[in-house]
Amino acid sequence: MRLGFPRALLYYEYYPFWAGFFYKLGIELVTSPLTNREIMEIGLKKAPDDTCLPVKILVGHLTVLRGVEGIFLPRLVSMEQNTYHCPKILGLPESIFYALPAESKVYTVDINWRGGKREVINSLMAFGGGIGCSKGQIREAFAEAQRWQKAYQRMRNAGWSFEESMECFEALAEPMKLKDLGFSQEGSRRQKPAEFEDGWLLDHEAQAGSRENQPKIALVGHSYLTYESYANMNLLQRLREKAQVFVVENVGSAPIEEQHSKLQKKIFWSHAKKIFGAGSAYVEDPEIDGLIYLSCFGCGTDSMTNDLLARRARKNQKPYLVLTLDEHSGEAGLVTRIEAFLDMLERRKDYESHLSSYGERLDSHSSLT
Ligand code: SF4
Repeated sequence: MRLGFPRALLYYEYYPFWAGFFYKLGIELVTSPLTNREIMEIGLKKAPDDTCLPVKILVGHLTVLRGVEGIFLPRLVSMEQNTYHCPKILGLPESIFYALPAESKVYTVDINWRGGKREVINSLMAFGGGIGCSKGQIREAFAEAQRWQKAYQRMRNAGWSFEESMECFEALAEPMKLKDLGFSQEGSRRQKPAEFEDGWLLDHEAQAGSRENQPKIALVGHSYLTYESYANMNLLQRLREKAQVFVVENVGSAPIEEQHSKLQKKIFWSHAKKIFGAGSAYVEDPEIDGLIYLSCFGCGTDSMTNDLLARRARKNQKPYLVLTLDEHSGEAGLVTRIEAFLDMLERRKDYESHLSSYGERLDSHSSLT
């Protein structure tokens, strides 16, 4: 069986989990191509006008998945206790059914960690029954899925980029891609998971360094915007050429929880909590020279997280830039703003000890501090 998996939205966080799950069940998971003009235009045309850019891109990806027996689109309600995905994610897949070709067959399953592991396994078993898998097979597949997701997290913590890590998982889940990477199909399917062990990661880590003099920038925002290089006009790559870039995924759960505990009221949107926690940790980190918040037009949770982070950055005198993407964003404008921001960081370093003629920050009386 071959199932299509859209390279959009929650692919950027949970693809390894589903790749491991279906790998164990012997089902091939075929991902849609990288976002391109055609995918973007289909998404913009077919998705509801008032939804956000990532959901529009998702619609485009679902439409171009071909040669598969069905499309897999899980409803991820809650991935940890007391947090939920935003309403636009909770509304999937039903909210976009009408935009898909009539012949599309969509497989879905509810994942809700609020009810604990037992509820998640029960949902997966109900889903597995529909595709002819036994309860035992689903239990094993679930264990494998968790192992792959943890391996992904370890790879990221050890300095692997998103692209490198995903290339590896996609090759395992989709054997046709193995040849392109120079592996034999059989050998790789059996051997590659063993290479998720520490030695492999440490080798990779040793390659880091040699960029000591470049500024350190934290790029915070939703993973499906940070790594969506078509929609963000290669922002990550552009920044990496001129700076050392740190992202939300480089921050562990402990610092995120610590920052979160400082709030009077807890944030219960999963992504908002992560972005706020990681962003606040970067704001307080003296090694980080500046923050860039990558947001998109139409995102409700960003309007709150961005404001909270902007206040913290101001209080800590940390340079802070907001880039908001929508389908009309222009490349020239983006490049100019990044360059101006990087220039400002350099100047700030060079003239750090110079005070303004007023002897204090010009914005120190702002009501936003
Ligand atoms: S969190 Fe924001 S960007 Fe993400 S799906 Fe919801 S509205 Fe869209």
